[in-house]
Amino acid sequence: MPVSVLTCMATDSDRKPILLTVDDDPGVSRAVARDLRRQYGEDYRVVRTESGPQALATLRELKLRGDLVAVMLADHRMPEMSGLEFLEEAMDLFPHARRALLTAYADTDAAIQAINIVDLDHYLLKPWDPPEEKLYPVVDSLIEMWQESDEQPATHTQVVGHRWSARSFEVRDFLARNSVPYHWHTSEEPEGQRLLAAAGVDVTSIPLVVTPDSNYLIDPSVGELAAKVGLSTTPSTDFYDVVIVGGGPAGLGAAVYAASEGLRTVLVERQATGGQAGQSSRIENYLGFPDGVTGSQLTDRARRQAHKFGAEVLTTRDVVGLDVRPSSRAVRFADGGQVVAHAVLLATGIAYRRLDVPGADALTGRGLFYGSAVTEASACAGDDIFIVGGANSAGQAAVFLSRHARQVTVLVRADNLEKSMSHYLIRQIDEIPNVEVRLTTEVVALHGDDHLETITICDSTTGKQETAPASYVFVFIGAAPRTEWLEGVIQRDARGFVLTGPDLRLERQRPRGWKLDRDPHFLEASTPGVFAAGDVRANSVKRVASAVGEGAMAIQLIHGYLEHQ
Ligand SMILES: Cc1cc2nc3c(=O)[nH]c(=O)nc-3n(C[C@H](O)[C@H](O)[C@H](O)COP(=O)(O)OP(=O)(O)OC[C@H]3O[C@@H](n4cnc5c(N)ncnc54)[C@H](O)[C@@H]3O)c2cc1C
Repeated sequence: MPVSVLTCMATDSDRKPILLTVDDDPGVSRAVARDLRRQYGEDYRVVRTESGPQALATLRELKLRGDLVAVMLADHRMPEMSGLEFLEEAMDLFPHARRALLTAYADTDAAIQAINIVDLDHYLLKPWDPPEEKLYPVVDSLIEMWQESDEQPATHTQVVGHRWSARSFEVRDFLARNSVPYHWHTSEEPEGQRLLAAAGVDVTSIPLVVTPDSNYLIDPSVGELAAKVGLSTTPSTDFYDVVIVGGGPAGLGAAVYAASEGLRTVLVERQATGGQAGQSSRIENYLGFPDGVTGSQLTDRARRQAHKFGAEVLTTRDVVGLDVRPSSRAVRFADGGQVVAHAVLLATGIAYRRLDVPGADALTGRGLFYGSAVTEASACAGDDIFIVGGANSAGQAAVFLSRHARQVTVLVRADNLEKSMSHYLIRQIDEIPNVEVRLTTEVVALHGDDHLETITICDSTTGKQETAPASYVFVFIGAAPRTEWLEGVIQRDARGFVLTGPDLRLERQRPRGWKLDRDPHFLEASTPGVFAAGDVRANSVKRVASAVGEGAMAIQLIHGYLEHQ
């Protein structure tokens, strides 16, 4: 497709609004473009095309780049597609662009009729000499009309999807959690439809992700998405001093300390850095933030800090295996490949347990969400929503979502909140009129076809069930470590948490297979050179501050391990 018109453009003029011309006569086409450039070249980019199909292809590319088209000048008589036909289709992509038809004197009647058909703003008679009298006044008024629309160029990634599409949610959540700014358009919105048309696809191809360089991805995997938006996914070398598995507060804390102390450091994260903390709407008990800090702010700062010191951060790489070799440790990725280091830090945290009730699987991402209250918050406006869980994470979500939803009901299995939620959150919730806490209550079933519509709950003291309308249910329950992949390599407790240091010394015995003439270090696992920090560690305090602290402490211990290796 001859769209080189755009690809060879200088970058400094890239974001100027566009005056597009289409004329099949090369002489006329060059002349009109020349006259326009002379008068408007400083503020506008003149893009010249020589047929309707070529002009439409160019417009589609401009749409995907997020550019603005101010004015379109089309010759009326063109062989493949008339100027009118072109303008009619072009309006679907750039409805705000002002439109003028270039006609010969003999075609004046057709042009006048076109005013009604394609909402033509003007017609211009060829030749237009002198342009000062016959061309510029018309183009000036077209530009003025366009300026009134106050259109702005799209400078960010754009996502087109459906409100109840689980994949659309996954893509948005991934971008948000990785601090990639994006514009969200539903596929029913005109702009969403225009982007789908520009990419040449229909609503069955959502989510569509359009990046500012005019590239687009249809229903991308998170790996493809990560690569497209510039996140690292592959290690730059094959050997490091330390590989950190997990990019939550423990992993990021460790990465900052390790890299700042000169260790060759790589952090491997399966989804998005920030971990659980990254999903928090407001962390109020982390030192140094008296007014609280959102999980995404804290994550963004930590990630930048880690990069600043030279740590590599790989996203969308799921670690599924750990190999212990005589003088190194290797972690294997789910999609193949590995990374090798002197030492490994396990900082894989915990993940929410899934709701095991009828309807839950089918409605995940379609009204039922695990964590992720922040991404969906604006969509809850005016809705009745439910939060399942009684810990701080559920409490924070209730406070946050109460600003958006009409009514928030927190479902708690226990008969009080005091044991599981911090006092400051209980107090905040008490004072919010549209939050109700229902104790001794469990979810029994979720219902809905395309998306969640109702929830059935049960009061465990009376056994009474009730079904209520619900557009959203956010679940924050029973988090568990996902450490099955360490089976047979690292000792874990009955719930899967990694045993370290003193916890490994049962009856004063060193762990089975331990060959060194020393005890495991405080955060060291049952294999020398493998350490654990944060929520994944058995008996750790499940808090941001302790995870960060353990991450830092683990690096100190790794230093000691490396020195005596
Ligand atoms: C919504 C919410 C609000 C919270 N609010 C607070 C608060 O206000 N104050 C507070 O102190 N605590 C709070 N917490 C708890 C706190 O966030 C956690 O204690 C803390 O995040 C634990 O950090 P971590 O690094 O150990 O693990 P996590 O944060 O769980 O991070 C682990 C990371 O490892 C990754 N991972 C797991 N397995 C693999 C694998 N195999 N390969 C690659 N990567 C992997 C995960 O994707 C994840 O990103 C909150 C938790 C939640 C969910």
